[in-house]
Amino acid sequence: MIDTLLSIIAPHHCLSCQKAGVVLCANCKKYIQKYSNTRCFLCNRLLVSWRCSAPCELAKIKQYIVAEREGLAHGVIDGMKFGYARANATVCAELLHESATMLEGDAVIVPVPTSAPHIRQRGFDHTLLIAKRLAKMRKTRAASLLGRSHNERQVGAGRKQRFLQANAAFFAKPTLPKTTSVILLDDIITTGSTTAAAARCLQEAGYVVEGIIAVAHQPLEKRK
Ligand SMILES: [Zn+2]
Ligand SMILES: [Zn+2]
Repeated sequence: MIDTLLSIIAPHHCLSCQKAGVVLCANCKKYIQKYSNTRCFLCNRLLVSWRCSAPCELAKIKQYIVAEREGLAHGVIDGMKFGYARANATVCAELLHESATMLEGDAVIVPVPTSAPHIRQRGFDHTLLIAKRLAKMRKTRAASLLGRSHNERQVGAGRKQRFLQANAAFFAKPTLPKTTSVILLDDIITTGSTTAAAARCLQEAGYVVEGIIAVAHQPLEKRK
C-alpha cells in the first residue's frame, strides 16, 4: 500500500541505470547475478557443486549467495531500509529465485529471524518478507521456524520447545513435522557463524536443511 502510494508520487527508477518503472531492471539484475559465491561462507574453502569441499559442518548443505555486498547489490539491500522497502524485498526474492536454481523442489523457506530492535526500526521484518515472496515464486511456503532466544521470552513455552533451544542465539519451533526439508534464508551473511548456528538449530530440531541462501555476502575487508 505505502509502496503503491509512493510509486504514484515518485515512480520507481532502476537503482543502477535509472530506467523508469522498475526498482531494478532486468539487465542490472543480471549484472548482480554474475557474481555468486564460490567459497564456503563459514570456512572459506572452495565449493564443489555448491557444497563445501572441506569436512566443515556445512558440507552437506548447498550454499548460494547472490552477490558481494558492494556496488549495486549494496544499493538494493540498503534501499530496503528506506523508501521502497517492500519493492526491494521483491527484487531480492527475484534475484534469489532466478539464480538459486541449484536448489530444486518445494523445500520450505525459513528466514533467519531479524532482531526485534531492527524490526521496530524498519517497521517490518525484511527477511521474512523476502522469504514469503520467494516462497510464492518457488510455489512453496515460508515458515518462521526460528525464534531469537534473547528477545522471544519462552516463559510458558512447552517442554518440547525449550528442549529445542539449540544455543544462545536461536530456538527452533516444532511447527512442522521432523524431516521436513527446508532452505534457510538470510539477507546478509557476514562472518557466517550466526547463519551456521541457525542451520544447526534447525537440524537439531529434526529438520533437513537442504540449502542456505542469502542475498549478499559482506566482504571481509569491509566488515566493521
Ligand atoms: Zn537498470
Ligand atoms: Zn566450509
